[in-house]
Amino acid sequence: MSDVTNIREAEARAAYLAEHDPLTGLSNRNRLTVKLAEVIAASSRSDAKVGLLLLDLDGFKQVNDQHGHVAGDELLRVAARRMSGHVRSGDTVARTGGDEFCIIQAGIQQPNGAFALAERLLRAFEKPIVIGKMRIFISASIGIALYPDDAAGEEELYHSADMALYAVKRSGGGGYLRFDHPAGKPAWPQWDIEKELRGAILRGDLSLAYQPLCGGVDSAVVGYEALARWNHPERGEISPDVFIPVAERIGMIRKLGTWILETACRDAVMWPENVRVSVNISSAQLEDGRLVEMVRQALRVSGLAPERLELEIKESALIGATEIITETFSALKRIGVLLALDDFGAGTSSMSSIQRMPFDRIKIDRSFVSSLASDARSVAIIRAILAIGRELNLSVTAEGVEDESQLVALRHMGCPELQGFLLGRPEPLSKVNEIAKLTQGLKGTF
Ligand code: C2E
Ligand code: MG
Ligand code: MG
Repeated sequence: MSDVTNIREAEARAAYLAEHDPLTGLSNRNRLTVKLAEVIAASSRSDAKVGLLLLDLDGFKQVNDQHGHVAGDELLRVAARRMSGHVRSGDTVARTGGDEFCIIQAGIQQPNGAFALAERLLRAFEKPIVIGKMRIFISASIGIALYPDDAAGEEELYHSADMALYAVKRSGGGGYLRFDHPAGKPAWPQWDIEKELRGAILRGDLSLAYQPLCGGVDSAVVGYEALARWNHPERGEISPDVFIPVAERIGMIRKLGTWILETACRDAVMWPENVRVSVNISSAQLEDGRLVEMVRQALRVSGLAPERLELEIKESALIGATEIITETFSALKRIGVLLALDDFGAGTSSMSSIQRMPFDRIKIDRSFVSSLASDARSVAIIRAILAIGRELNLSVTAEGVEDESQLVALRHMGCPELQGFLLGRPEPLSKVNEIAKLTQGLKGTF
């Protein structure tokens, strides 16, 4: 008996080792190849894209040389864990060489999806890696290629991502680039997102889109959320998930945030009086100390009533909420604006954020709404959040309502407010005004 068990165990171990990297436990190249073929085959049957991200640690060799192989190995293990924490469940992270990693991102709709992942991965390396008594700062370079846009098959996709990685490395590392078709243009011009974003903000090239917030009972529009847009002349629409953190990093968030707040208030003044505007506030803005004055100024200049302005703050921005944030919140409440806790439940949620901070609203993260039909636990969680809302006298908005069954379920549960593509996509102001004009009559003249 025990012999058989030993043989089984040895077989299982061998099978595991055939597909995994023993150091990090990530997939190895064999498994990566199989996975990539699978994911590409699946995407050919839908219109989703596949992202291939090659990641290389900058200066890993020095760490190895300076601190020895034991430290080097530990660094690779920590790096692997951090990367794994930033991908979705359907994605594959593999180690393909010494300090080379490869991520297959399945089922993305837009190149932005891959850029957002690259940003997240880069951010995963911002904190130093602690090994024993050492704090090692390391950055990463990422090359991206998309199937079917940048390659016709697996091998070409790998090659394209590798070319992109090479371009990042050559320009000094610590960033990401997508494979660029050479078609006559100089090959792989480095995308200096920081420089370009700074230019775009200074020129006023960014815009706002407005997505309706609707009443839970009748779906009537009760407000619009302002969402920042950067339409890049060559790269298309770049997600705010990507450029807001960059704006924070390059110290442009105050300028951008002021513009967003003032524009949103000025636009909203023209809407019917029962329609509010929601503006997202980033963590750097919260900690800035000048936010309160900025809000006052935006209200003063536009003439918008404070109760028609809602500020959305993500849970993650409250981590380790400092005194300055607490003071900012009280001052904002004194002005009379509304405060919403954005993406509730998605991150490191803590009930203490609703307990300590004077929020008026909770926005349920769309991950719970999207899994409503398939996961009974999501239903239970949404019910529980609605109950908290009732008990604490907070309104609740469900985000990401995409289909009729979700709408019906949320209505049935008595969710006070809904938002999502089914009720309306983010649209430019002109579209919003057109709809408002048709349905309710606008205050201003156009
Ligand atoms: P958020 O505040 O949670 O905004 C909602 C995001 O979900 C928007 O993405 C919106 O387009 C998307 N969305 C809405 N309904 C649906 C749906 O039914 N299905 C799906 N799949 N998605 C839906 P967007 O515009 O890409 O913004 C992403 C995030 O970037 C926002 O998340 C917000 O945190 C941040 N952001 C956007 N604009 C600003 C801004 O002006 N300032 C700051 N600080 N952050 C902003
Ligand atoms: Mg929001
Ligand atoms: Mg949200």
